[in-house]
Amino acid sequence: MKKLLPTSSAGSLPKPSWLAEPETLWSPWKLQGSELVDGKHDALRISLHEQQTAGVDIVSDGEQTRQHFVTTFIEHLNGVDFENRKTVKIRDRYDASVPTVVGPVSRTKSVFVEDAKFLRQQTSQPIKWALPGPMTMIDTLYDDHYKSREKLAWEFAKILNQEAKELEAAGVDIIQFDEPAFNVFFDEVNDWGIACLERAIEGLKCETAVHICYGYGIKANTDWKKTLGTEWRQYEEVFPKLQKSNIDIISLECQNSHVPIELLELVRGKKIMVGAIDVATNTIETPEEVAKTLREALKYVDADKLYPCTNCGMAPLPRDIANGKLNALSKGAELVRNELLAANVA
Ligand SMILES: [Zn+2]
Repeated sequence: MKKLLPTSSAGSLPKPSWLAEPETLWSPWKLQGSELVDGKHDALRISLHEQQTAGVDIVSDGEQTRQHFVTTFIEHLNGVDFENRKTVKIRDRYDASVPTVVGPVSRTKSVFVEDAKFLRQQTSQPIKWALPGPMTMIDTLYDDHYKSREKLAWEFAKILNQEAKELEAAGVDIIQFDEPAFNVFFDEVNDWGIACLERAIEGLKCETAVHICYGYGIKANTDWKKTLGTEWRQYEEVFPKLQKSNIDIISLECQNSHVPIELLELVRGKKIMVGAIDVATNTIETPEEVAKTLREALKYVDADKLYPCTNCGMAPLPRDIANGKLNALSKGAELVRNELLAANVA
C-alpha cells in the first residue's frame, strides 16, 4: 500500500559551510574546478542523508549544486549575457542586478540531468526535482531581445520541457516548477502563465508539481507580506485555473501564513503539498503544531492527496534549524497518519 501523507521539502536546503557561505542567497562557491564538482556531489550526498535521517519520504538534491533556484538554470542557456547586467524589480518587490537576454534563448545541453542521475544512484526512494517556472524565470532577467514577457516565457517553457523530459528519463518521479511569480502577476497568470506551465509539462509521464509561495524568509519578502493585510487571498486568483490544468500537484504555504485555508477547496481533486513548516523563522515547529496545520488542511484535501511539506526552500536557514524542521515535519505527519489509520479513513 502506498504510504499515507508522504513528506517532502519544497526545494533548497542549506549547504555545508565548506561549500558556500551559510545563510546567504546567491552565496559564492568556496571551491573551484574539479574540487567544486566533487564538493557539490559530496554536499548532495550529505543533504540526502540528512533528509533520510529526518524521515523525509520524497527526497531531493536539496539544490546543493545550484547557487540560486533560477539563475543557475539560466546560466546554462544561450542568448543570455551575464556580463551585461541591468537592475530590475523582482516580483515588483526588490531591486536586483540581473543578466540581459540579448538573442534567441536555447539549451545546448542538459542542466541538471547528471546531478539527477547521481541522486538516483544513491537512493530507491521517490525523487522530486525542482526547476524554475517560466514566469519566474522571465522575472529574474532583463529582456533586450523578445521585448515581450509572454514570448520569452513561451521560449523558456519549451526549454524547460526538454530538460524535464531528460529528468524523467533519469528516473525523477516528480518534477516541480517553482512559480512564486504566480502570487504577484495575476492577469499574466490567467493570460499566458498557466499555458506556459502546461507547455513545460507537455508529454511528461512522471508526476508534475507547481510550487507557489510567498518567497524565502528574506527581509524583502517578509516586509512585502506585512503589506498584504490579515487575509492573503492571492491563491484565490490562480487556483481555479490550476484546478483545470494538467498539473498533478500544487505546493503552497500554510504554516504561519495568513492564507485562508478554505481556499484549498478551489483545487479539490489535485494532490496538495501542504506547507506545514515556516521557513521565515528559526523557531522549530513542534510536531503537534505541524499536525494541527495538516488536520486543518484535511478538511479540504482528501487524505490520499495530502503531501506534508515545507512552506518554501530552507537554503537561507542555519543547517541545524533546517534539520530540526524536517524532523518536526516527519513527526507531525506521523501523528496525523496514525490518527487516520486508527480511524480507518485510509
Ligand atoms: Zn517557495
